[in-house]
Amino acid sequence: MNKNLLFRNIPKVDVLLENEDIQRMIGTYSRDTVVEAIRQELEILREFIRTCDNEEKAMVQIDALVQNIELTVVKMHRPNMRPVVNGTGTILHTNLGRAPISRDHMNYVASVATGYSNLEYNLEEGKRGERYSHFEKLLCEITGAEAAMAVNNNASSVMLILSTLGKGKEVIVSRGELVEIGGKFRVPDVMEQSGAKLVEVGTTNKTHFSDYEDAITEETSALLKVHTSNYRIVGFADSVPIADLVPLGDKHGIPIVEDLGSGVLIDLAKYGLEHEPTVQESIQAGADIVCFSGDKLLGGPQAGIIVGRKKYIDMMKKNQLTRALRIDKFTAATLDVVLHEYLSEETAVKNIPVLRMITEPIEKVTKDAKMLCRILKNAGLPAEIRLESCESQIGGGSLPLERIPSMAVTIKPFKISTAELEERMRHLPVPVIPRTINDKIVLDVRTIDRSFFKLIAEQFAEPGILN
Ligand SMILES: *Cc1c(COP(=O)(O)O)cnc(C)c1O
Repeated sequence: MNKNLLFRNIPKVDVLLENEDIQRMIGTYSRDTVVEAIRQELEILREFIRTCDNEEKAMVQIDALVQNIELTVVKMHRPNMRPVVNGTGTILHTNLGRAPISRDHMNYVASVATGYSNLEYNLEEGKRGERYSHFEKLLCEITGAEAAMAVNNNASSVMLILSTLGKGKEVIVSRGELVEIGGKFRVPDVMEQSGAKLVEVGTTNKTHFSDYEDAITEETSALLKVHTSNYRIVGFADSVPIADLVPLGDKHGIPIVEDLGSGVLIDLAKYGLEHEPTVQESIQAGADIVCFSGDKLLGGPQAGIIVGRKKYIDMMKKNQLTRALRIDKFTAATLDVVLHEYLSEETAVKNIPVLRMITEPIEKVTKDAKMLCRILKNAGLPAEIRLESCESQIGGGSLPLERIPSMAVTIKPFKISTAELEERMRHLPVPVIPRTINDKIVLDVRTIDRSFFKLIAEQFAEPGILN
């Protein structure tokens, strides 16, 4: 085998640049990226020939050069983030982007964000406006609070609240509520960052009214309650509800703050789930400030929403930290459009994907699962494909004990291992992320929109990932 001859068969860069297909790529993309792709592919080809001992295979690679250059250019220009199919059945999947936003809502946001908007412009008065104004009134109507604002995420809310009220002063928290939420959000660490001094009261399982009462000093600036979103203490346990703390706060002129975490605005018990405390209940019970996430049970964009008494919200709006933590126009517009669905519980449950997935009756999920099962079976794949019941989870640290009955399509490949199939599914153009149970691929249909069914089947069949 004459390697020198093979090397001489590789086209030179200037010849490649004259090639019709390469010229077309330069027109579509750019000269810079095409030249870079040529450089990369030539290097790969030379290395291939150096180590290859089959002349025919080497010639095939040389012939495929232009084609490979195109694949590389296309890949270079493709953004890294992409849609994936969530077959895990975890509705608020932190690694998969938490709350999905509906296409209708996003289309509206696109119309606002692709041009100029009244983000901070008051159209009534023709002067500067406030970015929170678009949803503040609505949030007040929905929650019963006097005022509202929003920052980047709920961790920022807690930071801003504590910095505004508690910097250099003391904030009292029950030891049973010093939680760590996913992503290393630890209440004690956030408090330290904010400059507030943490005063721990009670024990892990029990905190009494007198524990709070005894801890109040001249330096106390707030009583903080944290909803232990992602775990439950069961058995011999006790905590003090907001309503009981209110008289104590009033007596000493100290605000009661509650970090609710999930921030649900409708009563989930109506839909057969465990009751999750709502923002309305917290405000009704007398909390002065309540904060919660925008992209957990609310089903909106990543945000930290703060509602409560106007005098405190005004202080927070003026805090310099707010400039660093403020939401952008995408978040403001998305909150605006998603919160409008809460004008009625009916539209919220119908039009907000998170709520729709949580409340979807098992009959409807089963019907969809049957449809996906049939489409996959009709694709004639070398695998055992079955309909099986399963359980979905809420995720995102919300309602940790809740399991929602659901229906799955399971796939057991005949020719490759389940682990191999799982890996190949991750590498599809639209990756499909399943659960693996009992050495079977499990696609929980509760978290898969029906519009993806055909695509899933096509992707399984087309590159032959089961062979
Ligand atoms: C999730 C959660 C947070 C953090 O909210 P992010 O929006 O993820 O920053 C804070 N506190 C509680 C109680 C939570 O459940």
